[in-house]
Amino acid sequence: MSTHNRYTGSCFCGEVRFEVSGEPVAMGYCHCESCRHWSAGPVNAFTLWKPSALEVKHGVESIGSYNKTPISYRKWCTTCGGHLFTDHPTMGLIDVYAAMLPQLEFKPALHVHYQESVLRIHDGKPKMKDLPSEMGGSGLTLPD
Ligand SMILES: [Zn+2]
Ligand SMILES: [Zn+2]
Repeated sequence: MSTHNRYTGSCFCGEVRFEVSGEPVAMGYCHCESCRHWSAGPVNAFTLWKPSALEVKHGVESIGSYNKTPISYRKWCTTCGGHLFTDHPTMGLIDVYAAMLPQLEFKPALHVHYQESVLRIHDGKPKMKDLPSEMGGSGLTLPD
């Protein structure tokens, strides 16, 4: 039996296929303006992994990349436009969007950048004003 869980994902058209192994470092919701603007959605459900956990199995040449800031390199499929993941090189982590991993049980632990929220989620989870202090943020929380 393998000691590593494996979760597979693909873009909207199926050209880009990938796998993550192990367990995510953290899971939660990002409410920041950049995630909302880029995804055209009100919130981004994230799962963060060490880069070594991610392996692209097919279609690597079809992965587009754009970084508005040095913190986030946002990736998508250049054939279908489907979003894939965001590389956070300065944090040493990759956000594989929860929606990309249907086999992974999404267990959100916290909300980040809640001061920018346009969709309040009253789930009793910690609401970080920006980021936890260990990720370079203020560590401040806001009311649920
Ligand atoms: Zn695609
Ligand atoms: Zn964000």
